Amino acid sequence: MLTRLARLRRLLARERLDGFLVSSAANLRWLCGYTGSNGMMLVTPRDACFYTDFRYQEQIRTEVKGCRRRVLERDLYTAFPAEDCRRVRRLGFESGNLSFARFQAVRRQLRKTKLVPTRDLVLELRRSKEPAEAAKIQAAQTVVDRAFKAVLGLVKPGITERDLALEIESRFRAVGDVAFPSIVASGPNSAKPHAGASNRRLRRGDAITFDIGCRLDGYCSDMTRTVFLGRPDPDLAEVYSAVLAAQEQALAVIKPGVPCKFVDLAARDYLTGLGYGHYFGHSLGHGVGLDVHEQPMLARTSGQTLEPGDVTTVEPGVYIPGLGGVRIEDMVLVTKTGCRNLTASPKKLTIL
Ligand code: ZN
Ligand code: ZN
Repeated sequence: MLTRLARLRRLLARERLDGFLVSSAANLRWLCGYTGSNGMMLVTPRDACFYTDFRYQEQIRTEVKGCRRRVLERDLYTAFPAEDCRRVRRLGFESGNLSFARFQAVRRQLRKTKLVPTRDLVLELRRSKEPAEAAKIQAAQTVVDRAFKAVLGLVKPGITERDLALEIESRFRAVGDVAFPSIVASGPNSAKPHAGASNRRLRRGDAITFDIGCRLDGYCSDMTRTVFLGRPDPDLAEVYSAVLAAQEQALAVIKPGVPCKFVDLAARDYLTGLGYGHYFGHSLGHGVGLDVHEQPMLARTSGQTLEPGDVTTVEPGVYIPGLGGVRIEDMVLVTKTGCRNLTASPKKLTIL
């Protein structure tokens, strides 16, 4: 099997690049193992060099594998050694990551090199998870399942969304980190898909949406559940059944070779048939790995096709202003014949 660097070099040849500048932290971690914050890497057909500053010189001795290591001044892009790029004519850079100021700093150093913007080259390689990576994502999700179960015991009138988020996040930090700031959205806030966690106190009759993720050994998990404190409004209970059934429609079609947009449409057409289509304003899912949002995208506009090794969320939601919202999100691993659900938290309508 080709090393990750060898696979990147194959892509660089396809893009007619004879050099590539890696600036994204997740891509650096994936390519050479670096977990610090200030790093940069230059990959050429026959060489690879990693750069950092004094603060990390001890750390990289054991952490960074498969390339040369150089310690520069802290502003790596201004200090970028032009001699390392002597033979590079077309240098690709990560246009979605490298800031304009850093781009300008590199351009000042490399007057004779053409800087070529690229999108998602390393993400393309990171998309299909190796078994060890899938195992890490599963482990991160197991932490989420346990924390969620424990925190449900604290849901009662008077507790704030923020209290619940803190409790969840302290459990994540005890073993790793949060993958993203938790969403705990209750009552009217549940109608806002990306609400955050406020000082609102829970009341009877509230829908409470938890969208939470843990990061373990670099890898993220991502799960959403909506539960109810006391009997829900019957209209919202109906929304719940619809969202759950829509998710099941989508999960049933996931297997290699299926266009990603078909999976989105399986859930969307179902919700549209029930009159909820207008209230499902986001796409169905996204890949998960070292970043919480990566490839593939389960969206109507996606041109991608599912492949074994993809890890993706399936998260239909219906948000009705004035009534509330429901979202149910699982993570699945695409296998040779279908998919394996990595999320164990129950999905039956839960009344606390
Ligand atoms: Zn989520
Ligand atoms: Zn998600």
